[in-house]
Amino acid sequence: MKKYIYFFNEGNAKMKDLLGGKGANLCEMSRIGLPVPPGFVFTTETCIDYFKDNKTPKEADNQMIDALKKIEEQTDKEFGSSKKPLLISVRSGARVSMPGMMDTILNVGLNDEVVKGIAALTQNERFAYDAYRRLIQMFGNVVKNIPIEKFEEQLEKIKKDKGAKNDVDLGAEDLRNLIEKYKQVYKKETGKNFPQDPLTQLRSARDAVFSSWNNKRAKVYRKFHNIPEDWGTAAVVQAMVFGNLGPTSGTGVGFTRDPATGEKKIYGEYLLNAQGEDVVAGIRTPKPLSQLKTDLPDIFEELLRVQEKLEKHYKDMQDFEFTIENGKLYMLQTRTAKRTAQAAVKIAVDMVEERVIDKRTAVMRVDPHSLDQLLHPHLDLSSGEQPIAHGLPASPGAASGKIVFTSGEAKEAADRGESVILIRPETTPEDIHGIVSAKGVLTSRGGMTSHAAVVARGMGKPCIVGCEQIKIGPDKFAVGDKEWKKGDVITLDGANGNVYSGALPTLPPSLSNEFKQLLKWADEIRYLGVMANADNKKDASKARELGAEGIGLCRTEHMFLEKTRLPVVQEMILAQNTDERKKALEKLLEVQQKDFYDIFEAMDGLPVTIRLLDPPLHEFLPSLEKLLVEVTKEEEQGKVSPEKKKLLKIVRDLSEKNPMLGFRGCRLAIVYPEIYEMQTRAIYEAAIKAKNNGIVVKPEIMIPLVSVAKELGILRALVRKTAKEVLDKHKERMQIKIGTMIELPRAALTADEIANYADFFSFGTNDLTQTTFGFSRDDAEGKFLPNYLDKKVIDADPFVSIDEAGVGKLIKMTVELGRRTKPQLKIGICGEQGGDPKSVDFCNRSGLNYVSCSPFRVPIARLSAAQATIKNKNLN
Ligand code: PEP
Ligand code: MG
Repeated sequence: MKKYIYFFNEGNAKMKDLLGGKGANLCEMSRIGLPVPPGFVFTTETCIDYFKDNKTPKEADNQMIDALKKIEEQTDKEFGSSKKPLLISVRSGARVSMPGMMDTILNVGLNDEVVKGIAALTQNERFAYDAYRRLIQMFGNVVKNIPIEKFEEQLEKIKKDKGAKNDVDLGAEDLRNLIEKYKQVYKKETGKNFPQDPLTQLRSARDAVFSSWNNKRAKVYRKFHNIPEDWGTAAVVQAMVFGNLGPTSGTGVGFTRDPATGEKKIYGEYLLNAQGEDVVAGIRTPKPLSQLKTDLPDIFEELLRVQEKLEKHYKDMQDFEFTIENGKLYMLQTRTAKRTAQAAVKIAVDMVEERVIDKRTAVMRVDPHSLDQLLHPHLDLSSGEQPIAHGLPASPGAASGKIVFTSGEAKEAADRGESVILIRPETTPEDIHGIVSAKGVLTSRGGMTSHAAVVARGMGKPCIVGCEQIKIGPDKFAVGDKEWKKGDVITLDGANGNVYSGALPTLPPSLSNEFKQLLKWADEIRYLGVMANADNKKDASKARELGAEGIGLCRTEHMFLEKTRLPVVQEMILAQNTDERKKALEKLLEVQQKDFYDIFEAMDGLPVTIRLLDPPLHEFLPSLEKLLVEVTKEEEQGKVSPEKKKLLKIVRDLSEKNPMLGFRGCRLAIVYPEIYEMQTRAIYEAAIKAKNNGIVVKPEIMIPLVSVAKELGILRALVRKTAKEVLDKHKERMQIKIGTMIELPRAALTADEIANYADFFSFGTNDLTQTTFGFSRDDAEGKFLPNYLDKKVIDADPFVSIDEAGVGKLIKMTVELGRRTKPQLKIGICGEQGGDPKSVDFCNRSGLNYVSCSPFRVPIARLSAAQATIKNKNLN
């Protein structure tokens, strides 16, 4: 018989796949002696079975009836009784937290009779009727899809009639009337009466929670966070405790450390006399947890102890939800807390220093992707710019953009390629697509644990909440007597909560000591080398500052494209014979030499891998279309210049049907050896000059787009000969290292032959991916790749993350064949994927020696390489 249900004492924190994060942690908290209201968990398998037949299996339902009896015994209450009423909550909870994306129903078990019992027992009629009206509203909305506004209209109407400002100003009598109105709404919308049978309520609530796995916002969230569709959600069924019984009741959420900065301090929010959703929904702005010390000192002390116990037990920062019912504390949830990248790094390093975790655990704790946030600019306020408003700094980072006031507008504008800031009074789970689309989020209400704050933090987006100074209208907001309309630009500083008018300049990031410490530990652990792709002094210096151990790819064509040089490059291309070409190349030599010198200087002591010219020559000439138009116009006017005509002919001759597979890379040098000759001379002249100036130079030359071993054989001989000539002329000695890029399937297939001529291999996985798939990258990404991803024809963009099954197989084959010829052959990767954590892991598993990526990805690669070593420790 399949086990669909687990009691809290039957599970533990490791059972997240089966019991969901919330369920597993409730079990764990209960196990370590924290006060948890009794309950049980429907497994995620129940949800999966539910979707098979669109109903909960009979056996699961039977098990629920038995389990309910146990809860009745444990609580000494009865479900459906008005003498000893038991009320139940039904909560969703997947393996990973999806904040607010799925549904929850509270107060299940209330009906016209039970409500009277609750009122008598608590001697609090107002409370009882408030709980009942909340049930009808939540049940109607979640189970029957009745728009929440239909209920809220009624609530607002009664408040208006009574002159009540807040919900709490309504009395029991008002709420009783409201319940009648709510029932009418329910009947009108569904054609049926609100179900009075508690078991019917429970079954419907349970099924609705399962269904909510597939609601639209949950799907959007899963797509953004790459959460598989087939996991399903667990459902936690638990005895209710109430935070809204009076002044010694309350509810709140806490973090064991500050989730924005990582600082160790009491952090969280609470509301007295309120239910959980009031805090999470951001409808009432809650008080900071430190104030609980004055409001309820005993509970505050107990919370401190609970918090200590949670961190000690889980050995990681937790966030937790609690309810206080008539002066007694109950824990309702704990989980590993979401945190900003800054906080993640600080907490990981601090916990090593506190001896809670070891260095390897610390290195595994930080998501390498998230480091990106720390490497990005913050606002430059040196002009003395004053903020127009100030709110709570919920998620750090700077963002500027046009303001929009709905999530739909945010999505539309982002689809048009615009940067937008989403402004809402507060966000709800319905706003997920708006938050995904916006560069930053600003809300006028809600606290640090409101929906907007939690979701934006999870996505690493700047967010400011509770910015009460801004008064939001339908398509504008005002601060005092000033207004900003839809489309106006503002800037958010999520680090301190300031809002500015217009787009403010930014400054480069400064890296914290904890950041440096964590990466130092990563360096001690990793085997893979981390190099950078850089082709000028500025990028090279940046790469070095961020920990690159050398340059793995210096693309020389970028030097050719510079404005002042382009005419000389064109002169070279337009040359009628070798002599003319050499003359033009002579001029280029000088400038190239200077470029190389600067890079050698920046990388003093570290290897610099320079790739000789790669792109097709016509990339350096004006476009054929443009020239054609010009020549035709001139012809019409009868004054076409002979130079232009000559240029047109050459451009036409050089134009290719498919340049990506055309006359480029080493093919250029087989036909025009003088190009590589010049570049080699420039490299060695620069190297010698640098050496004479006390710089330690380690140049390595890389030949692109080789497909036949002989190409490399010929060009290696050419480069060696040229290099030796330069060295001999200066009476210098220097190691000459010549390697090749592996960018074509034929090169991979014949890597054993190619290795005879190579001192190293570097996988150009941009081209290797194009040529293995037969995709042209620009066409693929612009046209069909998004569709392929949507339809799951492929799992991930192979230009972002190495396609292990195909391209990866070629890589592995190349490594094996290459080292068959030269066992010590140095092998790396310099395609874009070199900075992608998953690809770094693959490179580590495949026995590569290094990865090379853009300077800003170097820290990401360092951390990923260390994580790969830890994950694959059995392979090393
Ligand atoms: C590559 O093909 O992966 C590579 C690094 O070269 P490029 O991107 O310059 O073609
Ligand atoms: Mg390439």
